[in-house]
Amino acid sequence: MTDYEAVIGIETHVELMTDSKMFCGCPVIFGEPPNTTTCPVCLGLPGAMPVPNAKAMEGILKIGTALDCEVAEISYFHRKNYFYPDLPKNYQISQYDVPICHDGSIAIDVDGAPTMIGITRVHMEEDTGKSIHMGGGGRIHDAEYSLLDFNRSGVPLVEIVTEPDIRSADQARAYGAELQRIVRTLGVSDARLEEGSMRFDANISIRPVGQEELGIRAEVKNVNSLRSLQRAVAFEIERQIAHVEAGGTVVQETRHWNEESGKTTSMRSKEESEDYRYFQEPDLVPIEVSAQWRDAIVAGLPELPAAQRARYEALGVDNRVAGVLTSTEGIGELFEEAMEAGGDARLIGNWLSGEVVAWTRNENKAVAEAHLEAAHLVELAGLVADSTLSASAAKQVLGGVLAGEGTPTEVAEARDLVQISDSSVIEAEVDAVLAAQPDAVASIAGGDMKPIGFLVGQVMRATGGKADPKQVSDMIRAKTTS
Ligand code: ADP
Ligand code: MG
Ligand code: ZN
Repeated sequence: MTDYEAVIGIETHVELMTDSKMFCGCPVIFGEPPNTTTCPVCLGLPGAMPVPNAKAMEGILKIGTALDCEVAEISYFHRKNYFYPDLPKNYQISQYDVPICHDGSIAIDVDGAPTMIGITRVHMEEDTGKSIHMGGGGRIHDAEYSLLDFNRSGVPLVEIVTEPDIRSADQARAYGAELQRIVRTLGVSDARLEEGSMRFDANISIRPVGQEELGIRAEVKNVNSLRSLQRAVAFEIERQIAHVEAGGTVVQETRHWNEESGKTTSMRSKEESEDYRYFQEPDLVPIEVSAQWRDAIVAGLPELPAAQRARYEALGVDNRVAGVLTSTEGIGELFEEAMEAGGDARLIGNWLSGEVVAWTRNENKAVAEAHLEAAHLVELAGLVADSTLSASAAKQVLGGVLAGEGTPTEVAEARDLVQISDSSVIEAEVDAVLAAQPDAVASIAGGDMKPIGFLVGQVMRATGGKADPKQVSDMIRAKTTS
């Protein structure tokens, strides 16, 4: 049997959250009534002239620079010609053979295996309008009729294309997640996959292990979350392998990911770039990026997620937790503030990435809506450090703080979670448990240490979880072995 290797390249579109559109003054706002944020330019009316948006150019330069790209001193806009109802001009202004940024990379890490994913190009284009299919479940095939909303048409869109360097569904997801973190850190887009301000197309092929030449690829569209990206890529790899093993050949085509069925289905055979009749946009001058502009962009870049994670890991936070802290809205800020106030990095990192993130999911609320301040986290870590609270009691206290029951000290007292510090009280509980469990005591005396855990559990139960398990375990050991 042949062993196959998957080869994946991802194209990502990111809508920039500028005040106005790419080539006109229409506002970029979402949720407005259909066709109210439009003008002759973004509707493609005859005679309307485009004017490039400097803020959008700054946004794409930030992305390209953060991805370690080369910036072209001069690049060009082209017309990509095609007919589709959501494109009233019948062409999209895009970039073709000379994109503004090229040859960059992103470092990803899947299970401790760092890999560099090459970035082929980062180019500027404009978004299209939106077709809304009425009836038949919202898909075009079964719709009775379709409506068009041009509010999105002309919104600045950045396309980021990778080299075919990705080798697995896990790596595809890690790439998508890291790109999303970078874009959000730059503050140029909210990069929401469910709302379409960030969209992935995954190109997937397989080849026998050891073969240099790339296989024929399928391009999968309609992946609306990081989880779907991973599932869609995994499904498509399996499908292609099964197809080839059964004697078939993979054809170049565009496929649609279906979230409910967990499958990809064929949409259309793939168009070639010659089909678009690209030519240079006659209404726009070439884009010139001066050395000063480039330097100003570099100087203004914020700390990027990779650097931030490395800084957190140096404080003792584990790799996975650092990933959550740098990618969840509002969490990183609380962590930073708690660190400035001298809190324990490992404990606080674990709480934020664990209990606090779980709370936001369960309550369906933002971190900002929790009654949680950095000072609370620092206080709570202090209560664990001085043995006022056990690790598990601290988590319960955190739950109370999140629910608005008060400060950690107040919650600990109100919920009666403060550890028993009087060792004579604990000793009395230990003695009672040992007296009640003569068999377990005899086993331990005979050299079998396994029942110690059971006895510790009994004492913890008797004290309502308020004893220090380490202290209890030491005491049981001392009393049962000699
Ligand atoms: P297009 O715009 O026509 O989709 P590109 O040549 O720009 O095409 O490639 C798009 C993406 O497909 C890139 O990310 C590239 O790395 C990837 N890619 C190209 N060939 C293959 C292949 N054989 N297998 C997997 N991915 C591929
Ligand atoms: Mg493509
Ligand atoms: Zn407009």
